[in-house]
This record gives sequence, C-alpha cells and structure tokens, in this order.
Amino acid sequence: MAERLEIPQIDSLVSTVEKVKRGEIKIVDLVTQHLKRAHEVNPQINAFITIFDDAIEKAKELDAKVQADEDLTKYKLLGIPFTAKDLYLVENTRTTFASKFMDNFIAPYTATIVQKCLDQGAILIGKTNCDPWGFGGSGENSGYGPTKNPLDFSKTPGGSSSGSAASLLAGVGFFSLGTDTGGSVRLPASFCGIYALKPTYGRNSRYGIGAMGSSFDTPGFFTRNIEDMALVESIIAGKDTNDASTFEVPVDTYSDYINDSDLSNITIGIPKEFYGEGVETSVTDAINIKIEELKQKGVKFKNVSIPSAKYGLAAYYILVPSEISSNRARYDGVRYGQKVSDNYEENLFEARSRYLETEVKRRIMIGTYSLSAGYSDAFYKQASKVRTKLKREFNEAFKEVDALLTPVSPSTAFKLGEKTNDPVQMYLVDIYSVTANLVGAPAVAVPAGKDDENMPIGLQIMGRNFEEGLLMKIAKEI
Ligand code: GLN
Repeated sequence: MAERLEIPQIDSLVSTVEKVKRGEIKIVDLVTQHLKRAHEVNPQINAFITIFDDAIEKAKELDAKVQADEDLTKYKLLGIPFTAKDLYLVENTRTTFASKFMDNFIAPYTATIVQKCLDQGAILIGKTNCDPWGFGGSGENSGYGPTKNPLDFSKTPGGSSSGSAASLLAGVGFFSLGTDTGGSVRLPASFCGIYALKPTYGRNSRYGIGAMGSSFDTPGFFTRNIEDMALVESIIAGKDTNDASTFEVPVDTYSDYINDSDLSNITIGIPKEFYGEGVETSVTDAINIKIEELKQKGVKFKNVSIPSAKYGLAAYYILVPSEISSNRARYDGVRYGQKVSDNYEENLFEARSRYLETEVKRRIMIGTYSLSAGYSDAFYKQASKVRTKLKREFNEAFKEVDALLTPVSPSTAFKLGEKTNDPVQMYLVDIYSVTANLVGAPAVAVPAGKDDENMPIGLQIMGRNFEEGLLMKIAKEI
C-alpha cells in the first residue's frame, strides 16, 4: 500500500461562508482548524514555504464584526481560510518564488488578486511551495524541496503549483491561488483530483505576481468543486489599472451558468491532435466515459482539427524561456536577489551560480540562445509564427464548436525523480496544456476518474476568450 494521507471531507466554501455569517461557525475556530491541519500535513507533503500562524488575529477581528452585527453582505468570503502560491506578493511578508535566490525577500506590496480576496473577508493562512517562479511541471525544481502527492507520497502532485493543489487536497483552506503559464494549475489539479481554472489571458490581474513568461502568465486557482470556482472567479476577475493587459470586459455572473443545466445547444469539439500517441489508455477510457455521459445529457460532439497543435509544445519551450530570460534581468543582486560581493559583475556571476536552481539556469540559457542575434529568426520568430497560426486555427474551430475537450496530460501522476534527469520527458507532460496559453484561451481542469493505481485522471475543457462561465457549466455537468 502506498504511503498516503487520509483525505478529509470538507464543506464547500459557498456553504461555509453562509454558516459563518449565520454565526454557526466561529472564524477563529475555522482558522485554527485549518492552521492545525497545515502544520499536521506539512512535514509529510512539504506543501508550504510559509504558514501564517498570526492569521488567528485576523480571525478574531472578523469574529468581532460578526458579533457586532455589522452589515456582512459586502464580505463574500467572510472568514474563509485560503492559501497562495509563493509567487504572490503579500505586503511585509516573505515571498521566495520558491527560489533560494529570493530566500529573504520581503514583499513591498500585495498582489491585486490576494487583496481582492482579503477585501472580501478571506484569510490567508499560508504560502505554498512550487517550482521556482513556476518553471516546472512536477514541483521538483523548488529550492525548498519537492512537494509530495497526498494520495501517494512517492508521486508528484504535479506542478508548478504543487503545494497549492496538494494542500487543498489535504484539507487545508477552501481555495488556493496558483499561476498557469503552460498548465501549472491544470496539471496539479489533474494529478490531485481537484478543480482548477486557467482564465482567459488578461481576465485576472497579474499585478504583484512573480513573472514567468509575461504574455503567457495567467493567475489561476484551485477549488474542491465548481460552485466554489464560480464564486472565487467572480471576485478576482476584472480590469486592474495596475496591469495593462487586463480587459474592461464585464465579469460574468458565473453562478448563473452553473445553475442552468440545459446543455442541448452546446457542441463540444474533440481535436484529434490532443489524443496522440503516448496518452495512457486509462486516460482516454475515462474521457470516453465522460463524453458518453455528456451525450446522454444532450451535448453534441464534433471531431475537429487544430493542425498546428503538434508544434505547440516546441513553440512554447522557445517562447516562454525567451520571455523568462528577459524577465530575469531584474534579478541581478542589486535590484533583487542574493548579494555575495560588492563588485557588480562578480556578484552577478557568483550569486546566480550559487543560488539559482538548475532549471532556472536552463530556462535562461534556452531563452537567451533563442533570442540571440544569430538564432532569433530560426527560433523565436518561427515559434511566434506558430503561435499566430494556432490562434487562427482556434478561432476557426470555435466557429464550429463551443468548447474543446481533451486530456489535461497524457499520463497520471508519475513518480518523484522519474523525469528529473530528462528535461524533455518532463516538458512532454505539458503537451496538451500549453496550447491554451499560446492562444490565451480559458480552460478548466475537471476530475474525470481514476487509473488502476487509484490515481486521479483530469480532463480539460478549453473555450472562447471570456467564456469561463460556459466552461464551468460544462464542468458542473461532468
Ligand atoms: N510545466 C510548464 C513549464 O514548465 C508550465 C509551467 C507553468 O504553467 N507555470 O513551463
């Protein structure tokens, strides 16, 4: 038998907020219970870089508001403990980006999305472990050691938002903020059997989140069910004057979508390029069952083709490292990062050599190479063309269908250490998730069954820009 955690049954966020407001649950008790669980599971799964024990003080303040009979309608997340990937800045607290290079960095301000949750009465109880700045697919690149899958300690929970998914599954908090540049909320959700939303690029603000590849980065998050997803996204989405890539597009009332179970006018596309060789049969079997179930509910299905998807992974692993390498310029030991010498050049060389994790160095090298004078036409420019072509093909497909259904990944959770010596094998895990980021489309990850070792299988639904609501509606029926 695999060594694993018992997974507790936890009430939904939506119903817990109601109980808190009715005074049936004290916020102090709720926060105490979740902090206790965080401390209990962390030695086993290494999901947290920081746990905020002083969250109890915040809980007491909020309990006082409930007692004083204040108007509570403006607090949509009253008393809800949540966690955030350690890429999110939180004023006056340590933010490491999971890299030893930033081990002692204290954030000067708070990320917009975290602030929006706090403004609604939610309580941040921990910063979660992940691959450094999000560079990875298994959590194993973290400068703070790998996170373990709560369902089997010998396996990865998926990455890069490894600690977010693992801690939520383990019973800590009601939602966890992650980031998704090429699959980093969808993959861990799929390996842990929970839900994740990667919103449309520009739907949620990136302000105050450590940058990976800026034209790919989307702040996503994990929940235990779709109702909670609808509530959280309705709070964190929207225009932010601090992030010029966010849009004025009004935020939908996502709960309206999930309360409407009429699926008769929905057509879902099955893009053949996302069911290629290497997909485990347990994954395709599970997805086929879900497709049949949706057909029973009236959904129409259509085979479609996104021909350039086969170049997606290659294009991603040129474009994203390119953006990574230029985004790293600020980590020079003067503006940010470790200082080991007063001489600028010596410091740059020594501090980066000593403290940047191997994968961080690898990404900088790939990116710098792809952008260099002699090679940018052959690499960066070609990959950019693939990206444009993919966008066109997606638009074409979405003339025929309302959403696309695919696996999140060809496999279920793999063993820790299995792919660490072979970066290409590790990158292949992302083959079906990177496309949404290349084109900017929204996507959700939904648990779709178990493999023969009882590990979760995830399916992905991608949609048109800003149609997160429709994706949640389909996910709800699954
Ligand atoms: N695994 C992918 C990568 O390593 C995606 C990471 C992410 O979404 N942050 O680039």
